[in-house]
Amino acid sequence: MLNLPAGAAFVLQRLKQNGYQGYVVGGCVRDSLLNRQPKDWDVCTDALPEDMQRIFRGQHVIETGLKHGTLTVMYDHEPYEVTTFRVDGEYTDHRHPDEVRFVKDVAEDLARRDFTMNAMAWSPDTGLVDVFGGREDLAAGLIRCVGDAKMRFGEDALRIMRALRFASVYGFGIEAETSRAIHEMKGNLAGVAAERIRVELAKLLCGRGVGAILREYADVIFAVLPQLAPMHGFDQRTPFHAYDVWEHTVRAVESVPPTEVLRLTMLLHDSGKPAAFTMDERGVGHAYGHPVISVQIAEEILAYLRVDHATRDRVLLLVEAHDMGVTSERTQLKRRLHKLGEEALWELIEVKRADALGKGTEEAAVIEARMDAVRQALRNLLAEQPCVTLRDMAVNGRDLMAEGVTGKALGETLNWLLGEVINERLPNEREALMAAARAHRDAENA
Ligand code: ATP
Ligand code: MG
Repeated sequence: MLNLPAGAAFVLQRLKQNGYQGYVVGGCVRDSLLNRQPKDWDVCTDALPEDMQRIFRGQHVIETGLKHGTLTVMYDHEPYEVTTFRVDGEYTDHRHPDEVRFVKDVAEDLARRDFTMNAMAWSPDTGLVDVFGGREDLAAGLIRCVGDAKMRFGEDALRIMRALRFASVYGFGIEAETSRAIHEMKGNLAGVAAERIRVELAKLLCGRGVGAILREYADVIFAVLPQLAPMHGFDQRTPFHAYDVWEHTVRAVESVPPTEVLRLTMLLHDSGKPAAFTMDERGVGHAYGHPVISVQIAEEILAYLRVDHATRDRVLLLVEAHDMGVTSERTQLKRRLHKLGEEALWELIEVKRADALGKGTEEAAVIEARMDAVRQALRNLLAEQPCVTLRDMAVNGRDLMAEGVTGKALGETLNWLLGEVINERLPNEREALMAAARAHRDAENA
């Protein structure tokens, strides 16, 4: 028995009253069987689009994709997509069916769906309709294509990313034939719209099984983001790292909290290492300046993925800053607050922690204790509402202008004062700052 929301029950009821079949289908059935809250409830039916329009007249509907058989019915301000049973035609672009054909049998509709666990339907009258063994695969934690895996990935390469995403999010395995086909067909991913890849990649990165997927399907990730391939197997030749750059990256990704910003940051943070690598006369490896190259690679990748500007800017800031020291020392924390702002500094602490955990050379408990101390120091410092920006300073441009400081010297003097305050060589007090500004001006003019 599935726990239908009122809107889905209403849609099924209306279809039935009018002599049509109706089932909830796909992700909502899968998630219900997993005891997860479904994100949205999709319905499939043998009613044709024009039948649906008639049946739901008087209801608030949105004609989302009538050509493909989909009508969205609004109920309690929630959308319910209702789609006519259909089979997809040819896929010439490996992504979109050239045409769809409406059919009368729910089993035919289920056959066009990607994985067995996504190919189940349910209605109060029939119970579960499970033609491809989806329930069994779900119980075993296995992702398996409906039908011939190679053919299915050949039709639509986005399914490759969906398979990896579901495997990561649910911590599932991928059935052997499906897995082989993923490796074989990964080249087709080049033709998939980058925004669709971004959505799947973000979910994949935030899933609990991300480590296993990045290890086992590294070749697929590199098919999408070839700039990352040089990290694979790259020996760092340093006592500070136990793993090659890719394995370090995977461990760092797993160790950071699951937000898109943080997971992307860890995926990209060391991407510049292979290019920055040098070896000294003792045979020890270095990667001086690698964050700058990582930022360049990250910029390219984030632009390709069409990542929004806020996410992109934050990831680039954190990639650039990932090698900076972050300790409990007050003035250093203030300098970091000045450069990054509070929110990004909290994130940088997570980045530093994950980076350290991913190196495999230091005990986790030691790292955690060190990061806890930094967090405590930052909390204490923030409670003081420290002056770390020009806005926080006890003097402003107008004050200095009154002392005859103008033009380029104005901004320069303000920034110098701020540096003195941040580094605690001057108190953030009006009198002291004005006196210092006068002395600074006189010294400049002398
Ligand atoms: P989510 O929980 O992310 O919504 P979902 O499986 O519901 O996952 P949707 O994109 O909402 O994903 O798709 C709904 C259903 O449509 C899927 O469960 C699946 O049956 C089918 N489907 C979606 N994308 C594809 C695809 N690329 N190829 C075949 N079937 C697909
Ligand atoms: Mg869905």
